[in-house]
Amino acid sequence: MSLRTCWINGSYVSEADATVSIFDRSVLFGDGVYEVAAVFNGRLLDADRHLVRLERSMREIALPSAYPVAQLEAVMQELATRGGLTEGLVYLQVTRGAAERDFAFPEQVTPTVFAFARPKRLSDDPNASGVRVHVVPDIRWQRCDIKSTAMLAQVLAKQAARQAGAFEAMMHEDGLVTEGGSSNLWIVRDGVAYTRPLSNDILAGITRHVCLEVADDAAVPVVQRAFTVDQARAADECFITSATSFVLPITSIDSHVVGTGAMGPVTSRMRAAYLARAERLTR
Ligand code: PMP
Repeated sequence: MSLRTCWINGSYVSEADATVSIFDRSVLFGDGVYEVAAVFNGRLLDADRHLVRLERSMREIALPSAYPVAQLEAVMQELATRGGLTEGLVYLQVTRGAAERDFAFPEQVTPTVFAFARPKRLSDDPNASGVRVHVVPDIRWQRCDIKSTAMLAQVLAKQAARQAGAFEAMMHEDGLVTEGGSSNLWIVRDGVAYTRPLSNDILAGITRHVCLEVADDAAVPVVQRAFTVDQARAADECFITSATSFVLPITSIDSHVVGTGAMGPVTSRMRAAYLARAERLTR
């Protein structure tokens, strides 16, 4: 297998040479933030929105910017192009760089910035017929709105999901659903879609936001309101949104079958509206 080209600190290099120091604060503390944007029809999807969120995450952790956003967007597109991607994703991470190990920030920060691309089936995602989620308590910190690379809680949640034969974790606090391990969650009851309102408890998903925008095209009334695991079990439909899954039906919550056990009409219209917009933006 040929090694792909990655980008790190201003240079395109083979993935074999795309390395960071053991003193990098992302290695020592998870002190960094990241973004993942989809590639559709060979073009970045909503890169502008992802980069606005990256800048916000950086501001929230007082991480100085190292490259103009326009350059980062060009790098992400170039990696997709060099990788020959028609459908896939580009990952971009910014860390507080390498320094002697000390919890507080170093006086001089030189951020480490790197990115890579990976192919992934999106329009004909094999999971589009429906996935299982596994319910776990949300044991994360109080700033889940920051897209931080410190993700041990999500690693454990998604590993528990995998061991339970599920695709994604459904995280909850005292029975109230927060979000998926790496996605936002929705339920549908009597034709109305519900998703948790934005707060520090969840990531402001770009896909969630786009779904709110295309809900009219999909003829789906949406209410931003938190729901419980029990309400999800009793829902007619449930679905996942994320930049690299788009809209996927949840057809079971652990051993409980949701609705008919197949993709429901509201999820189907939302996925179609999302795909139609993605086509419009990238063709
Ligand atoms: N929540 C979490 C915890 C995530 O990691 C992700 C994926 N990055 C999402 C939600 C979905 O966000 P987006 O639609 O921007 O991919």
